[in-house]
Amino acid sequence: MGRYFKEYSEFLAEIFTGKVQKIPVNVGLSCPNRDGTLGRGGCIYCNNASFSPVGLNAWQSLEEQINAGREFFRRKYKDMRFLVYFQSYTSTHGQMDRLMDLYRRAAATEGTVGIIIGTRPDCVPDELLNVLSELNRECKVLMEYGAESAHNRTLELINRCHSWEQTVDAVKRSHEAGLKVGLHFIMGLPGEDEKMMLETVDAACALSPEVLKFHQLQVIKGTPLARMYESGNADITLFTPESYSQLCMKIISRVPAHIAIDRFVAQAPSDMVIAPKWGMKNYQFAQMLENKLKEYYKEASKDLT
Ligand code: SF4
Repeated sequence: MGRYFKEYSEFLAEIFTGKVQKIPVNVGLSCPNRDGTLGRGGCIYCNNASFSPVGLNAWQSLEEQINAGREFFRRKYKDMRFLVYFQSYTSTHGQMDRLMDLYRRAAATEGTVGIIIGTRPDCVPDELLNVLSELNRECKVLMEYGAESAHNRTLELINRCHSWEQTVDAVKRSHEAGLKVGLHFIMGLPGEDEKMMLETVDAACALSPEVLKFHQLQVIKGTPLARMYESGNADITLFTPESYSQLCMKIISRVPAHIAIDRFVAQAPSDMVIAPKWGMKNYQFAQMLENKLKEYYKEASKDLT
């Protein structure tokens, strides 16, 4: 879909030569919204198992996880190089020494050319960013912040325990440290209409992150959101593939060409999803969106002739 927006692969190609692949790892960190630092309940939609790839074993060492990933991907492409993806929970929540040991060990593994650190915008003290800035000279460091919405009222409703201003601040300080930034958002959160969702997109673009990531809200079993949904009190937008693809087209039209879009959808394991149940793989949605974009631009070009 690179004709319609900057794809993540194009962003990677600006930084790395040759093929690179993410290897997600789970190093057993927690999150301040669960361990009592900020709260214990977590974000209302969160069941971390729904967005951590199946088979990630925190009891395996970091190196074992990376080696397993490398072996798997190199069966197909022997020259493949890797981005170690600290994805689960809040990957900057812990003792600085322990965190830096993990990042440095990951960076030192054979074939690794970068690390991606998934975290919350309120968990990146200057001290950490300064050390990451140094590591970034040897091995690229990409920060990925779960921002979720630019509306503080929504952030309160979903119990994020951080504000939009903290996201703005984290992006600014990360850029000052020379680090590339990705921002993650969820579409369909409680109390948000389309106008609010697109305001979030605009506010995100104004920060010039290198990468944006979106996904549709899913109600996952065992979460506070599931209980709200089942009692009829969720006030959320449950997109269909059709309605969500319409929203994605509006998002695409607003994102400037220098910002890459990593993805639009996420599908939690189907046995964990209460709603919406699309019965569609991510690649099938991507294909559907591409077809709609093609059709849209074909019609638009007719208007010009
Ligand atoms: S979404 Fe992230 S910050 Fe929120 S509870 Fe889950 S792991 Fe913690």
